[in-house]
Amino acid sequence: AAGLWGREVARMAGIELPLMTLEHQYFVTETIPEIAALGRRLPSVADRDSEYYLRQEGLGLLVGAYERDGRFWAEDGTPAAFGHELLEADLERIEPNVLAACARIPALAEAGIKRVINGPMIWSPDSAALFGPVPELTNYYCCAGIIPGFSQSGGLGLLLAQWIVEGEPELDLFGWDLARFGAWAGKAFTKARALDCYAHRFRIHFPGEEREAGRPVRTRPVYDRQKALGAVFGLNYGWEQPLFYGDGEVTEDSFGFARQPWHQAVGAECRALRSGVGIIDTSTFAKYEVTGAGGADWLDRVVANKVPRRNGRATLTPLLGRRGGIAGDFTVTRLDDETLLMIGSGMAERYHKRFFDAVPRPHGVAFRSVTEARAGFNVAGPQARTLLARLTDADLSSAAFPFLTGRRLTVAGLAGVAIRVSFTGDLGWEIYVAEADQPALFEALMAAGADLGVRPVGSRALASLRIEKGYGSWGREYSPEYWPQEVGLDRLVKLDKPEFLGREAYLAVKDRPPRERLVILEVDASTADASGSEPIFLADGTAVGRVSSGAYSHTFGCSLALGFVRADLAVPGQALDVAILGRPHAARILAHAPFDPSGERLRA
Ligand SMILES: Cc1cc2nc3c(=O)[nH]c(=O)nc-3n(C[C@H](O)[C@H](O)[C@H](O)COP(=O)(O)OP(=O)(O)OC[C@H]3O[C@@H](n4cnc5c(N)ncnc54)[C@H](O)[C@@H]3O)c2cc1C
Repeated sequence: AAGLWGREVARMAGIELPLMTLEHQYFVTETIPEIAALGRRLPSVADRDSEYYLRQEGLGLLVGAYERDGRFWAEDGTPAAFGHELLEADLERIEPNVLAACARIPALAEAGIKRVINGPMIWSPDSAALFGPVPELTNYYCCAGIIPGFSQSGGLGLLLAQWIVEGEPELDLFGWDLARFGAWAGKAFTKARALDCYAHRFRIHFPGEEREAGRPVRTRPVYDRQKALGAVFGLNYGWEQPLFYGDGEVTEDSFGFARQPWHQAVGAECRALRSGVGIIDTSTFAKYEVTGAGGADWLDRVVANKVPRRNGRATLTPLLGRRGGIAGDFTVTRLDDETLLMIGSGMAERYHKRFFDAVPRPHGVAFRSVTEARAGFNVAGPQARTLLARLTDADLSSAAFPFLTGRRLTVAGLAGVAIRVSFTGDLGWEIYVAEADQPALFEALMAAGADLGVRPVGSRALASLRIEKGYGSWGREYSPEYWPQEVGLDRLVKLDKPEFLGREAYLAVKDRPPRERLVILEVDASTADASGSEPIFLADGTAVGRVSSGAYSHTFGCSLALGFVRADLAVPGQALDVAILGRPHAARILAHAPFDPSGERLRA
C-alpha cells in the first residue's frame, strides 16, 4: 500500500506490479458570484463525453480533467526523494476539456483561477486496484494502484482485513484481485492501457466492450490464420481470442447496450455448430498436469469431487473457497497411472495458484501449468464425430469413447489428448496438442470438415450456446460468494473424502437453505439482451435478484438469461421483470435449460 511507490516497494519483495504513473491536473476558481448567490451547495458533476469533473469548492468550483493525451511521469520509477511536491502546471493540455466545461457552465468562463494542482497518480492496466495476497509469496498482501483513493480506502481496508484475518473476503473481488494480471502484463501493455484508462476515465462503458490499447500481447501460432478468416479478437488473460468471425458485411467489433451488427455473424456460427460442426479455440483455458504416483491423492485434498481412479476417466469438480463458496470449477482427466490433466478457467490461473499451493505436494508429485505449452480446439456439434473420425484411427464411438472420458491419441498425425467434454452442450471433444502443432491441427480440422459445413466459432457464440444449455461459467455463475447448493454443484462435493480445501467451511453452510438460486430465464427482449448485472424485480418493483449472464439464443430464437433470484421465488414459471436499459422486460423462470435437457446430444 505504498501509493506512488507501489512499484518500488513491490520490487523489494521481488515482484513487478503492472503500474504506471501519469500526471493529473485540477484547478480551483475564485468566488463565482452566481454560486455565492445560490445559498446552497451544488452537486458534483462528471462529463462522460468531455472527460472533466467539477464540484463546488468554497464559493467557486474545482475543475479537473482527464485529457486525451495524458502525460506519463517518472515512468521508470518514482524517485525515492519525491515528497508529493506539485508538478508544474500546464493548463493548455486540458484546454479542450475546460472549454467543454465552460460551454456547459458559462459562469465558469468568467471565473478567475485561484490555484492549479498538478500531481501524479498511479494506474493499473484497467484502473482498478491491484489487491490481495501475492500468489507467488507467502503472507504478502498488496493494495496498490488506487485511483479514487478517498472514496475506496474504507472499503479496501475492511476487505483486506478480512482477507488477512479470515483467509478470504466476503465479496468476490476478482475484478480487483491482482491475480487477474500475469507476467504478460509488461511495461508496454501497462503504459498503453493506463493511458487509455486515463483518457476515458468517465466514458460510458458497454457490455462486452473490448479495448484495443496495448494489444496484441499474447498470440497463438494460429492467430494470423484466424485473422485471415475474419476473426475479430478479444482479450482473455492476455491472449487474443476470437470473439466472432466477420461475415463479409461485418468485419469489426462494435459495442452498445442493444444487439450489435455482429449479432447475425454470431448467429451463423451458432447455427453451424448446432446443425453440423464448429471449431472453438480453447487454447485460452488454463491447463495443468499433475504427475507422479501420488498425484491423485494430492489433488483429492485440493478439489471437492473425487479425482478419477480409472485411466481414461474424466470428472468435473468444484474447488471450494474458505467460506465454502465456489472458488473454481475444473475438468480432471486421468490419462495414465501417473498423469492427470486438468482444465480450468484461463483468466483465473494465477488466482487458483493460491489454492494449489495451499496443499503441500508430497515428494514425487509434480504440478505444472501447461497452458502456454499446449493449444487446442473444441470440436463440437452433431457432426463432430464424423469429422474427427477422418483424422484419427481411434474408435470414437460412444461405447469406446463415452462422455467424460479422455485419452492420448494421434489426430491428423499429431500427438494430442482428446477429452470428451462439452461446454456447448453438444457432442464434442476438446483436443490439445503442442502449441507449435496448433496451425496444423486447425488446417486439418477445417479441411476434413469442409463438406460437413465446418466453421470456426468464436467466444460470443460459445457464450450463447452454453447459456441455452444452462451451463455456468466461473466468474459469472460460479463465484466464492455462492455456495454449491445455490448453483447446483452440491452433487459434485464429496464429503466422504476426509480432507479437501473448504471442506469444513462447506460443512458449516451445507444445510443452510440457499439464499438465492441460479435459474434460467426466458426474457421478452426484442432489441437488447441481458448481458450480466441487470437487476431482477417482481412486478411490484421489489428487487429479488440479478442476471449473471445473458444472450440471444439463435437455436431457439429467444432471449435468455442466467441469474440469481431469491430462493423462495426460484420456481419454474415464476414471472419476473428483468431491467434492461432501465425498462422492465417480462421474464419467466424455465423448468430447465432449453437445449437438450435430457442430455441425448451430449451423450450421442
Ligand atoms: C491531482 C489529484 C487529484 C485527485 N483527486 C482525487 C479525488 O477527487 N478523489 C479521490 O478519491 N482520489 C483522488 N486522487 C487520488 C488519491 O489521492 C489516491 O487514490 C490515494 O491517495 C491513493 O492512496 P494510497 O493509500 O494508495 O496511496 P498514498 O495516499 O500515496 O499512500 C501511500 C503511503 O505509503 C508511504 N510509503 C511509500 N513507500 C514507503 C516505504 N518504503 N515505507 C513506508 N511508507 C512508505 C507514502 O509515504 C504514503 O504515505 C487524486 C490524486 C491526484 C494526484
